[in-house]
Amino acid sequence: MPEKLILHYRDPGASPADPQWLEQQLRAIGFLGERYNQAGDNQFLTGPDFLQYISFIGCSPTIYTTLNEAGRPGFCHMEISTVSQQTRFLGANNIRYFYCPHCRHKAKEPTFRHMQDPDGPDNLWKCPDCGNDIPVYELDLREQGGFGRFYIAIWGIGEGLAIPSDKLLAELERITEKSWRFFYCRTHE
Ligand SMILES: [Zn+2]
Repeated sequence: MPEKLILHYRDPGASPADPQWLEQQLRAIGFLGERYNQAGDNQFLTGPDFLQYISFIGCSPTIYTTLNEAGRPGFCHMEISTVSQQTRFLGANNIRYFYCPHCRHKAKEPTFRHMQDPDGPDNLWKCPDCGNDIPVYELDLREQGGFGRFYIAIWGIGEGLAIPSDKLLAELERITEKSWRFFYCRTHE
């Protein structure tokens, strides 16, 4: 089951004015490597300083990052999305629970109906505790999902295995002049 860590703007409506320029900046800091042709043309190797930008939790596992290892399960590489016109749900089906941003009610009900079409008629979630109607973008999905128009994915990073380093979040904010967040995405196959 493929796993990835998704980085995206905290503002769900934000997008880069020039994705190619952003790509160049990410390469200049050693985070992003060269483009390679497998499963689409927006796939990249990790950059030479990649390990400075990811903090492994617990002992560091062996990770596979070279082109020769591209076929291995868990191959660690990167993907830069295109910019979508609409804000959309960027995650998969690994949301187990989320919080009401107003009263911190913990909701366990699955909300994919809301998530998959955030601009649709069902895009409000009614909190059973405080009664607020809340746009799904504002729900606190913790590190299990997010909304946006653009993302950077690091493939091969499982949930809780590693987090973006402070240095990475600071560099993303410096380059884009916007705040970023992250979550884990796991697709069942
Ligand atoms: Zn509430």
